[in-house]
Amino acid sequence: MKNKKRLDQLKFVINDTCRNVDLAKVEHAYLYAVNAHAGQKRLNGDDWIIHPLSVASTLAQWGLDETTLIAGLLHDVVEESSTTQDDLVREFGSEVATLVKGVSKVTAVRLQGSSEAIFVESLRKMIIAMAHDLRVVFIKLADRIHNMETLSALPKEKQIQNARETLEIYAPLAERLGIGRAKSLLEDLAFPYVYAKEYKKVTRESTPYYLHCNENIVLMQETLERDLRREGVEASVSGRAKGYYSLWRKLQRAEIDWDYEKIHDYAAIRIMVESAKDCYVALGIIHELFKPIPKIGVSDFIAQPKPNGYQSIHTKVFGPKGGPVEIQIRTYKMHQQAEYGAAAHWQYAEVKIKAKSGKKLETVKQQNQGYKWIRQLVSWQQELSDSDEFVKAVKFDGFQYRNFVFSPKGDVYDLPQNATPVDYAFAVHTDLGHYISGAKVNGKIVPLKYKLQSGDVCEIIKNKNRNLPRLDWLEFVVTTAAKREIGRELRKRR
Ligand code: MN
Repeated sequence: MKNKKRLDQLKFVINDTCRNVDLAKVEHAYLYAVNAHAGQKRLNGDDWIIHPLSVASTLAQWGLDETTLIAGLLHDVVEESSTTQDDLVREFGSEVATLVKGVSKVTAVRLQGSSEAIFVESLRKMIIAMAHDLRVVFIKLADRIHNMETLSALPKEKQIQNARETLEIYAPLAERLGIGRAKSLLEDLAFPYVYAKEYKKVTRESTPYYLHCNENIVLMQETLERDLRREGVEASVSGRAKGYYSLWRKLQRAEIDWDYEKIHDYAAIRIMVESAKDCYVALGIIHELFKPIPKIGVSDFIAQPKPNGYQSIHTKVFGPKGGPVEIQIRTYKMHQQAEYGAAAHWQYAEVKIKAKSGKKLETVKQQNQGYKWIRQLVSWQQELSDSDEFVKAVKFDGFQYRNFVFSPKGDVYDLPQNATPVDYAFAVHTDLGHYISGAKVNGKIVPLKYKLQSGDVCEIIKNKNRNLPRLDWLEFVVTTAAKREIGRELRKRR
């Protein structure tokens, strides 16, 4: 039977990446789900069981624990069949049942339109679920990945709504949790549905650049493997292509402004080694083989990790076929962190704690340690009984590294802390920055140096004619795009 084969594949992944999983228990949960969903079909005609199986496979790839895998297999049985919460408690224990309940709660969260209030409310519900147990969100992300993979079976209107929600809530959430693989997967699955025209344009126009980059990489890969080994660095060398959504976002940046030539990472070479020291040794060997490009050369995210914990050395070198090629150097552990983020942490933390005390409850506390913002939100949730107040707290302080600012049409822009309406204007479009006459936030006129907050709806009041940026804007803008653009205009004028 076809589905049985998929179960075997799941077991194979579990054996490969998960620790301490009782396969008999996983099979029991599988059979229970098969029974509960008997006769049910997905909209694409698949047996329903294909869906939870796929969710469990994703969770297994992330290396999650037995309870999460079982809850993944059962995540739809309460919603979609006659099985009750009590049935699950009796059969699989309260931990599994609680996870399934949490997933159903998050599923009830819908992003309808992009109004500020509803967006924040959706986030709030999700955060409450996360606060309870981060594993709920892992299951929800895996669920969303498979739903996006099978989205074409849904009515058109639903497709767009779900894909938007994916771009606006789930992908940023995966990013905040540092699950890079889920983030780019979700973005690229949603992109063609939400921005069909732009997707076609970008894929068409970028094809020659991807091909050129690939030629370089194929030529370099072998040389790198050989020379690294010769110098005593055990490394695995692979290529990875940039996702179309992230390419599209980058093309819109003021400093790129749709110049495909300015993008240097259509594809990148990824080199994985054992230790951080090997990363630096590898960097030296690479630069002897291929000359680094002056000025845009090296970024050392090992010495200075990104806020979500990302570590790697990035360098850009001249490829044998001409043009720049990006090379990313990292340890296997840093790779694990970059791809699976919080999921990887969760796993490490659990192992550590179990060894110490053997108690499960502490595991949940431990998992949040590395995620200050979640911890903070958790404590607010406990302190602030009034829902309005909590929404305010989430809105103003929760997402401290990044603000989600909305255009009047409901498009979302990620801006750094202290960004102003001027930064927003240049983030939307370089040209908009040249027509600023004033700004409204949430319908009220504000000064241009106003500091935008997450959830703000920002509207630029436009001049009739193109006008020159003002010198004093440089005193309050924070994004590179705005600074550079204003500086350039001012120099031009002198
Ligand atoms: Mn589901």
